[in-house]
Order: sequence, then structure tokens, then C-alpha cells
Amino acid sequence: MFSDYFIAKKKLYPQLAKGRFRKLKNKLNILFLGIYCLSPFLRFNRGENISNQAILIDIPNGRAYFFFIEIWPSEVYYLAAILIILAVALFFITSLFGRVWCGYACFQTVWSDIFIMVERFFQGDRNSRIILDRKNNLNKFYRKTLTHLTWIIISLLTGFVFCSYFSDVFLLYKNLVSLNISSTILGWTIGIAGMTYLMAGFAREHVCTFMCPYARFQSAMFDDNTLVISYDEKRGEPRAKYHQGEDFTKRGHCIDCKQCVVVCPTGIDIRNGLQMECINCGLCIDACDSIMEKIGLPKGLIRYDTSLNLSDPKPKNKFKIWRLRTFYYLIILISVCSLTLYSLANKAKIDFSVSQERNPLFVKLSDGSIRNGYYLKITNKTHYDKYFTINIVEPYEALLKIQNNNENFVKVNAESSFIFKFFVTIPSQIISLNKENRGFVIMEINSKNSELITQENSQLQITKNEPLDNQTKDRNISEYHDINEKISIIFIGD
Ligand code: SF4
Ligand code: SF4
Repeated sequence: MFSDYFIAKKKLYPQLAKGRFRKLKNKLNILFLGIYCLSPFLRFNRGENISNQAILIDIPNGRAYFFFIEIWPSEVYYLAAILIILAVALFFITSLFGRVWCGYACFQTVWSDIFIMVERFFQGDRNSRIILDRKNNLNKFYRKTLTHLTWIIISLLTGFVFCSYFSDVFLLYKNLVSLNISSTILGWTIGIAGMTYLMAGFAREHVCTFMCPYARFQSAMFDDNTLVISYDEKRGEPRAKYHQGEDFTKRGHCIDCKQCVVVCPTGIDIRNGLQMECINCGLCIDACDSIMEKIGLPKGLIRYDTSLNLSDPKPKNKFKIWRLRTFYYLIILISVCSLTLYSLANKAKIDFSVSQERNPLFVKLSDGSIRNGYYLKITNKTHYDKYFTINIVEPYEALLKIQNNNENFVKVNAESSFIFKFFVTIPSQIISLNKENRGFVIMEINSKNSELITQENSQLQITKNEPLDNQTKDRNISEYHDINEKISIIFIGD
């Protein structure tokens, strides 16, 4: 029924589960929160005059830093590569262990868990919360107010920490202490805090069930050997209420106590089989294990197992890691990681692009020679100022002149781009253009570091067609230039 989509969902009151998965979740919550809050404080030395914050998305300057990785806006394809790596890694892990990401590491799970802990702290466990919600008294008002205030504080901290990935973390905290927060930081903090408050405080399991696309296609990554949280139907059924001292030989081990249901943060009954809402958090295992312990039965009526094992009359309890599916995922993962790392390690630190002046396409000078104008854009992605020399290699007779510059070298500051205009003039008698009035000129661009050019007092004299190396040999300067690029540009005549 279409109207079923609009049926109000019952509010859940997850009960505290006690056991190894609850303990594991507590430890992981602390670990992930620690990583989230402390990562912006990690340092990575990139040289002088550049942030040493290891993880930083510097929006005003258009840079993203992750330790040795530095991504410019023009290199946004690296972000696509990182997203592909994360997606394939998720598929790989899911094919092995089911939805462990959802159960233990997802932001929604971790923050919802923390918010439920706060709720439990101020309002008590499941039964107390149900009773409290039925009443309208001062005690309820006081407990609810404290719960919401704590949620708001956690949400604001979450929003503020989020901002520390986008700005200098020490400056940010200093500004917080002196109450000198910029309106941008304040806006983002409040925005993220609002989302956290809504998603972890109210939406909770609805995010996993209705909003997260991953829940919808997770089963495509499962096979009979994937570890999922399952109820052992063969052992548990027929279920029935338990009476003290009852014999279990003629009935199933499930005593229908519903403990596995009341602890479930998504409110499902795992005994109904694998469901889209199950986030594999393991809390129903804890609940059922403690019941089994109390009634003297072996633990594991609900457990992590493969459907192959569960359907086998004589289960071998073997978990097969290497299957065709996991092998494929691993191969794809290794390939994409290797390609991305290779590309990052070999990426150009200096980019060039030349575009021709369109109007006029060429100018005929009084002596008959032809002049073309060009724009050269040099992007210096290093952390040092660079000087570049530009020469014509071919044809030998061509002359190069940089606009408003009497030298043949230009400076491009560290981490910036510079566009300048230059002219190439070729005497008419040596122009050999093809029938479309186009020919080619080969130019050479060399860079040298700023320190060397200062040493030489900027009196660099480059002779056309003489490689820069030849001139530097005499001066005994090693590592003279960082790049030596030859670029072919189109020359247009009449
Ligand atoms: S069914 Fe069990 S594993 Fe799945 S979400 Fe509920 S408590 Fe967690
Ligand atoms: S906790 Fe165990 S015994 Fe109780 S209802 Fe769930 S499966 Fe059955």
C-alpha cells in the first residue's frame, strides 16, 4: 500500500546490552572519536611558509593536503580515485565480514550510539525511558533538558572539530578561547551541529533504513561465505517460553524473551532472517549470549556465521576468506591504489599551457617579418619561488620577446600561477608555412631555483639555442634546473 510509506514509526528505546560486542563498540567509539578530534593536530613538514597541518582542506587557497599528498583544484580526479579506493575497500570488507562498517565505524552509528548513551545516563535504561515518556512532570522536564543540552554541546563540538579540517587548528582553538570566531566558522559549526543533533538525536535508525543507499545494495556483495549476524533457526526453533528446569530436548533453544529485539538499535527481530535494517552491530549476540548463559545453554544461538554453515546439516565452522569475489575486489583495490600512488609520486610539480592571441592572429612588421603573440600560463606547485627561462629552439632565426620584460626569464611565486604574454617574430624569408598558413615553433622552458638566481645576481644571459646546462657547467652549479620542457607552438603567417 502506498499509504504504508507514511505510517509513523514507533519510537525505539534500545536497551543496554552487556557483552563482548558492546565492549568492542565502546572501545571503537573512543578510538574513532579520538581520530576525528585529534587528526587535525597531526603535523607534516612541507617546508617553509606552508602549513604543516598533516590533514587540511585549504579552501581559500584551493589546496587539499593529506600528509605527502597535495591536491590542487585542477587535480580533482585524485579525489575521484580516493573515493573509488574507499568504495572498493568497503566492498572488499563487506564481502568478507558483512556490514561491519555500518555496525562499528559509520559516523551515523558512532554518533547515534553516543547520543543513546547520554539519553541512558540522564533518563535511565529502556523501561525508565518508556515510563518517563508517558509522564508529564518536572522530573521529565529536567531529565529531557539535560539530555538535549548535552546533545547540543556534543553537536557543537562535532561541528567545531569539523571546521578544524578546513583551517589552522591551533589558530582556530586560540580564536575559540578568545571568543573571536569568524562568521564562516560559526555558520559551519552551527550547520554541522544542527545536522548532528537531528541525525543522531532523532533520525537515528531511519538514516540507515531510509536514507543510506549502502543499505540497499549491500546484499549484492554478500555470498554464502560472507560472515553475517544470523539466528540459528535449526537450533532455536520451535521457540517457546522457558520455565525453570525445563528440558530442551523436545523444543528449540530460543525462549522468546525478545532480549535480542529490545537491544537492537534499529528495532528489528533478527530471528526473521537477514534484513536490510540490520547494521551488524552484534548487540543482539550479546543479549542472546547472556540469556543462554543464564539458562545453561551454549552461547551462539545468534552469532556471526556464514549462510553456508547455517544451512549445512553438519556445519564445518570454516570461514573461507579467499573466494573469487574477494579475490577480484582485492585485485581491483591493489590496482587502483598502485595507479593512484604511482600517479601521485610522479605528478608534475610545474604545469604549462600556451594559448595563442586570437586578435590579431599575426602582425606583419615593417621589415616584412611576421610576429605572433602568445599567452603562457605557468603553474608552480612547488613550495619555492621559481624562475623560468624561455628560449626558441627552432627555427633558429626566430626571436622571442616577453612583454614588459627585458630578460628572457620570469618569476613564478611558490604555489601560484602566472600568465604572461610573449611574442615570437620570424623573418619573412625563412617562414615555411604549410598551405593553411600554419607552421610550428619549438620553444624550451627551463626552471631554476630562486637561490641560484640570487647568487648570480640575476644577471643571467642565455644564448639562444644553447642548452642551459652548457652555461652552468663553467659555474660549477649542480642541479641547475628542475625541468627542461620543449613545447611546440603554432605560428601563423599571411
Ligand atoms: S539485528 Fe542485531 S546486529 Fe542487526 S542491528 Fe539489530 S542488534 Fe545489531
Ligand atoms: S535473545 Fe535469544 S533466546 Fe531471547 S528471543 Fe532472542 S534469540 Fe530467542
